[in-house]
This record gives sequence, structure tokens and C-alpha cells, in this order.
Amino acid sequence: MIKVCKFGGTSMADGINFLRVKNILEIDPARRYVVVSAPGKRFGGDGKVTDLLYETYREVKEGGHVGEAYAKVAERFRSIVHEAGVAMDIEALLFETALSIEAEQAEDFTASRGEYLAGRIMAALLQIPFIDARDVIKFDALGRPDARTYDLLRDRLRGLRRAVVAGFYGEGPDGKVKTFSRGGSDVTGAIVARAAGADLYENWTDVSGFLACDPRIVPNPAGIRRLSYRELRELSYMGANVLHSEAIFPVREAGIPIQIKNTFRPEDEGTRILPDKGFVPSGRPVTGIAGKKNFTVIFLEKSLMNTEIGFTYRVLEVFKRHNISFEHIPSGIDTMSFVIDSEQILPDLEAVEREISEAVHPDKIGVIPDMALIAVVGHGMSYNVGISARLFTAIARTGVNVRMIDQGSSELNIIVGVENVHYERTVRAVYEEFFGSEI
Ligand code: ASP
Repeated sequence: MIKVCKFGGTSMADGINFLRVKNILEIDPARRYVVVSAPGKRFGGDGKVTDLLYETYREVKEGGHVGEAYAKVAERFRSIVHEAGVAMDIEALLFETALSIEAEQAEDFTASRGEYLAGRIMAALLQIPFIDARDVIKFDALGRPDARTYDLLRDRLRGLRRAVVAGFYGEGPDGKVKTFSRGGSDVTGAIVARAAGADLYENWTDVSGFLACDPRIVPNPAGIRRLSYRELRELSYMGANVLHSEAIFPVREAGIPIQIKNTFRPEDEGTRILPDKGFVPSGRPVTGIAGKKNFTVIFLEKSLMNTEIGFTYRVLEVFKRHNISFEHIPSGIDTMSFVIDSEQILPDLEAVEREISEAVHPDKIGVIPDMALIAVVGHGMSYNVGISARLFTAIARTGVNVRMIDQGSSELNIIVGVENVHYERTVRAVYEEFFGSEI
């Protein structure tokens, strides 16, 4: 049995937490490979080491040398080593790191040093080897880990019973350090799990797994015990952000389950994310509700639109020209709507409207601003006729007008568009309907 464990920023925030991580690892001998994030916040208002490193980069760019921000980074690591009682020469490592940051003068390299240093310290604490992600995770020109990555990692891990791997970065095709997007240590963990042929990818964080809805909207929502990869994808795309949205791909392909665990409450069960094939829903029709605000919808009406060859193509060409991606295209026989992130479309809105009119001469073109989308997700909804009736009745009861509905062909989710101002009220109504007895 092999488990790969990734620990997030809060789990790495101070020396006491490093010791907590050590305990968690030593309790279970299957926990062989460890992926670490950079230390995160210790308390509200505290800085994250990665943010301080981005600041360090700005200092180096302006003055050529590391300054105050790096001094804060150094202090964080110094106190971790001290608090956790790690036997190592931290001063030499911090000095050497400062020199390398000044020599490289590169943003990604600087940002990656949080994971690098955290990994070096964790390896010293556990007295096991450290693997520099730069040597084993190689990015292609599009910024995705390339084919060599798995071979390199597999070879490295084969010889090691246990090891610590630094999260968040690898090496680009130009030989320079490159990072994933923020929160990317989750992706590193998934890659290591796949390369190690792990039976389980444990993702240790500061919450006990996914919740059925945003706790800022509904206090104490039900926890989700089991999720399929696809449900997870839908929920995290729509804003449930426990896990980096790209972290599922490496493990999904290999069918490795993910277990979300809480470093601060290891006894809590957490959420298990399982392959879609053979996934048995919990018996509840809805698994979770997620959503986001601030979308703009452009809707078009044209008689006999369905028979006009190339209609959608011509509209999409306009979006392409403006470099705008869309989220959904709900459509009827003579109508079609494009749902777009407002931040992307607003600067170009007038031009886009004009160019679409010129391209397809619609009978009507209109814009609905300030829309929120709510995704109601669950395998249990498939082919369950009564579910949408319950959903829309619940929303109607609160007096909210549904402006848009989109149901994917998988029937795994229903997306409801309402005005931003009705967002919270709608989420609450949907939660009450499907989870009400647990409030
Ligand atoms: N330290 C990086 C960040 O804050 C990556 C990670 O924690 O996953 O985004």
C-alpha cells in the first residue's frame, strides 16, 4: 500500500505544525511520499511565504538585492527550524537561497523557494531524502507536465522508500524553474501519486473536506463524504475551492482516489473522491451546490436559427477575435445565449455586440448583466424526473426569477442563472430543499 500525502500552506505554517505533519506520517507506514506547500498564514492577517516571495522578486528587480520581504521569509523558516527542533544549518541554506534569487532574477524561481525551503526542512525533520521538483517535473511549451516527468519521477521514487518532494514548481523547456498557478502543490501531489503508483492520494488541508455548500451562505452545511471526479470537477469549477482544479487529471487517468483530510482534525473522515466508473451515489439526489457571481449573458434570437449553417461559428469568431472565452451556451430552437465572465467581456462589450449583429443579423440581441450562476451537482440527479421540479419550485417559492437554465447532457448538473442580488437567497433555498432535514 502506497499513500502520497500533500500538505497545504496552513499545515506547514509553523514549527508545531511541522511536528503535527511528522506525527500524521509516522502513524501510517503507507504514507511514504510527502509533497509540501510553502508555509501559509499562521493567523488572520499573517503573510503567506509565497506572497512574501513575490514581493522579494519585486525588491530584487528594483534594487538588485533581496530586502525586507526576504528577511521576513528567512525569519519564518528560522523559527520553524527552531520550534520543530530540526538539526540543520538553516542560516547557510537561507544565505545560499538569497544568492540564487539574486542571480536568477526570475519571478517563478523566487516564488518557488517557499516550497523548496519547506521541503528541505521537512526532509531534515523526517530524516528522509529530498527531491527537488526541478529535476523531475518538466513542463512542455504549453506549461503542462510533459511525458518525461512520469519516467523521471518513477525512476527517482523507485529507489526510495520515503521522500519529500517540493510542490508548486518544475522546470520549463528553457531549463528555468517554472511554477504552476497558485495553489499548484495540489497538482504536484497528484503527479507524484500517479508516478508512485499510489493506492491513495491524501490531500491534507485545514478543512475536513468538501461541504455541500458555501458555509458563508449557509452556516454549518453538511459535509460531503464521497464525490466522483466529475462531480468534483463541476463543483470546483463553480467555486468550491478545496483542491486546485487541475489536480484531478493526473490521478483520474490512473484511477487513484483522493482523500481530503484535515491536519488539525485528523480523526475527521474528510471527503473521498473516487473514479466515475462504478461510482455509487450516496442515495441523495444532490451531492453539492456551488456558484459564482458576476457573469454577463449575451442572448440572441433569430427565426429559423436552427437551419442556418455556420450561425454559431460566426458568433464564436467574434469572441475569438476579442480573445474572450465563454462558460456556457444554453440554446433553444431560435435562441442562443452566451454566458461570459463579466471581467472578460465588459471592456469589449459594445464592440462584441456590434460585430455579432453584423455577423449574423439576429432579430434580437440583448445583454443581461450581473448574473450569478449556481450549479446543482450530483450523479443522483440523473434520470430522476422529479429533481428539477423540486429545484425550480424551491427557487420560485423564494420569489427569485430564474433567468437562465443549462443542463449538461450528462445530467450530472443543472446550472441556474439568477441576478447577482438573488444569489445567496437562491443557494439557501436550494440547500434547504435538498439538505433541509440536516440544518
Ligand atoms: N505556495 C503556493 C501558493 O500559495 C502553492 C501552494 O501552496 O500550493 O499558491
